[in-house]
Amino acid sequence: MDFDFSAEEEAFRAEVQEFLAENLPAPEARGPEFAAEWNQKLAEKRWIGFAWPREEGGGGAGLIEQFILKQEMAKVQAPPLGSDFMGLAWVGPALIRHGTDEQKQRFLPDLLESRTLWCTGYSEPDHGSDLASLKTRAVLEGDEYVVNGQKIWTTSAHFAKWIFMLVRTESESRYGGITCLLIPMDSPGIEVQPILSLVGQHSFNQVFFNDVRVPVGNRLGAEGEGWKVVMGALANERSGISEATDMERRLEDLKEVARGARKNGRPALEDSSVRRQIARFEAKISAMRLNGLRALTKQLQGNPPSTETSVNKLIRGQLEIPMHDLALGLQGSESQHANQWTEQSLTFHGTVIGGGTPNIQRNIISERILKLPKD
Ligand SMILES: Cc1cc2nc3c(=O)[nH]c(=O)nc-3n(C[C@H](O)[C@H](O)[C@H](O)COP(=O)(O)OP(=O)(O)OC[C@H]3O[C@@H](n4cnc5c(N)ncnc54)[C@H](O)[C@@H]3O)c2cc1C
Repeated sequence: MDFDFSAEEEAFRAEVQEFLAENLPAPEARGPEFAAEWNQKLAEKRWIGFAWPREEGGGGAGLIEQFILKQEMAKVQAPPLGSDFMGLAWVGPALIRHGTDEQKQRFLPDLLESRTLWCTGYSEPDHGSDLASLKTRAVLEGDEYVVNGQKIWTTSAHFAKWIFMLVRTESESRYGGITCLLIPMDSPGIEVQPILSLVGQHSFNQVFFNDVRVPVGNRLGAEGEGWKVVMGALANERSGISEATDMERRLEDLKEVARGARKNGRPALEDSSVRRQIARFEAKISAMRLNGLRALTKQLQGNPPSTETSVNKLIRGQLEIPMHDLALGLQGSESQHANQWTEQSLTFHGTVIGGGTPNIQRNIISERILKLPKD
């Protein structure tokens, strides 16, 4: 096993570091124009969609270069690559894999140049973990589908331009009856209603579809192949969630807090329980890093992202809340960051669920990695 990067890869890392040092202002110096200017600079370097094929407008880079780019960006807390998180992380790759030439030309340039925003319509009120039981129907009438039903927990639906959506086109076949449609959010018959989160923020919605007409040209993949499309999209979603670099940076922040904190009148790091907790976090994050490299190796061998992402997503879900609780405990409720940390720690109760709950990741691991029988 070789964990070293080649001379060319290290040269690319140096290029990224130099670019970031020259172009990324400190968070407090980022004005209202910053996001657009930043995305423009990244687009010029073709770092948005960096590993997408050049003929699709991407950077044509290898997965290792993309890994290095993301790693360096996360280290300095740079904003995400491009403004359309869902669009770039899974809608674009799904279009590249399953889209027609016409669909690629229509959607990919907007995605790469941050001109659009996608949301994702999978979950329904009684069909979340058991996604394949979804009920929202699409019936083909001439060259249009007529869609009726309801989605829930739809992040960003209140400002998205498009929804990447799963519908049922046939009721007999559980998996084979599911189709993927790309629907403009301003279509007549779509109604978006907000759901406020635990901390009062509006990021979730319910979305109602009442006789929404969708041209058949907006179907991604063949009718009945939506499950195949979504399996790839979910693996891409989980692979983003499961990246270790972000957790490595948070661990460094936590260590910084611990170095400056006191517990029972003594430096907090003299307390063995604090040291033990930090060591456990460090061990788990190392496991995430190595597992991430294993996933990367598999992808380099031509296999799509797979079950490793479930392992890392599960570990991450076990780390976020305890790491934040420790930081908060060490800082004390009087600290200037306390409110921000409390709010963040409450949002982790949600992020642990998005992309599939811990139980669902355990099911995937037990069936596909450990080959245990289904109950
Ligand atoms: C932050 C966040 C963002 C989200 N964004 C979106 C989005 O943009 N679009 C979208 O479509 N959805 C989104 N969701 C919804 C998310 O995908 C679902 O909440 C998730 O899949 C769980 O479904 P559910 O809420 O219906 O829970 P349920 O499926 O009802 O699960 C309830 C409990 O039962 C357990 N459970 C269920 N089935 C099993 C089983 N077979 N074995 C063991 N345990 C089981 C679960 O682990 C869970 O603890 C988001 C959710 C969150 C929290």
